[in-house]
Amino acid sequence: MRAQDILLPRPEGLYCPPGDFFIDPVRPVDRALITHGHSDHARSGHGHVLATRRTLDIMALRYGADFAGSSQPIGFGETMAIKDATVHFHPAGHVLGSAQIAVEAGGKRIVASGDYKRRADPTSEEFEVVPCDVFITEATFGLPVFRHPHAADEVARLLKSMRQFPERAHLVGAYALGKAQRVIRLVRDAGYEEPIYIHGALARLCDYYQSEGIDLGELRPATIENGSKQGFAGALVVGPPSAFADRWARRFPDPVSCFASGWMRIRQRVKQRGVELPLIVSDHCDWDELVETIEDTGASEVWVTHGREEALVRWCEMSGIKAQPLHLVGYEDEGD
Ligand SMILES: [Zn+2]
Ligand SMILES: [Zn+2]
Repeated sequence: MRAQDILLPRPEGLYCPPGDFFIDPVRPVDRALITHGHSDHARSGHGHVLATRRTLDIMALRYGADFAGSSQPIGFGETMAIKDATVHFHPAGHVLGSAQIAVEAGGKRIVASGDYKRRADPTSEEFEVVPCDVFITEATFGLPVFRHPHAADEVARLLKSMRQFPERAHLVGAYALGKAQRVIRLVRDAGYEEPIYIHGALARLCDYYQSEGIDLGELRPATIENGSKQGFAGALVVGPPSAFADRWARRFPDPVSCFASGWMRIRQRVKQRGVELPLIVSDHCDWDELVETIEDTGASEVWVTHGREEALVRWCEMSGIKAQPLHLVGYEDEGD
């Protein structure tokens, strides 16, 4: 069986003919396998969803309990037959519950990694290398110029700025699923024990992470009832990046605007967003992690998707690995 007979791109998403299912479909389908809870990968309205328990929990939190006709959890490492295909899920290290999906048919194994990262992250299960014939990788930061610094160093810069400007509030923009909890955990690991104020849009997901045993310390709603405007002097406030553009942000005294994203590597983006303190913290692989992972899987063929496909395809070819871009539409890296 050729790899293209096991998984192929369709307008709905990546389709597996032997198993008659889609991976991370962008349109409603009968049977969907979902890698993780980011909204560009996990959508509501499918007939049946197979995902890790945590991803199913996150989908229910975001879309309501009726996000799919029916759903079924699969554990990491558990093997399941779906028609003429066999699947198993392995940790992707991207956000809580995120998985790579291995699909086997006709003696071949393809791994669809979804979004993934290799860096240590106490708020996510650790990435696992899954040997395979074909590895499907994302390429969000698929250029050699992308090298993420250590996240702990970025957070140390944030805490330094807070000591430097004790009268100002520090507003950290971070996406609601994964990034926000990771930044909060990093701040705790750096020894910060004060309450951290969060925007309402983060509350349910932060509560969920805490209920899953990821300690984020004391979180308080960033509402004005917490005190006067001056009450937020010296405070650390975390919210979704979109919130900082609206009225909500005006309640804080002379805020220092920070944004935690892999894109903060790019000066133009920092400027565009009016970010005073860019924090380069990414939940995607940088260039080194991408090529290291491709080598680790031992795949003889690589398919590259959402992001900068070209450079990675070229790197594979120069390394003697067959490679091609996989043109999938509808993925916008919500998580970075
Ligand atoms: Zn993605
Ligand atoms: Zn993602």
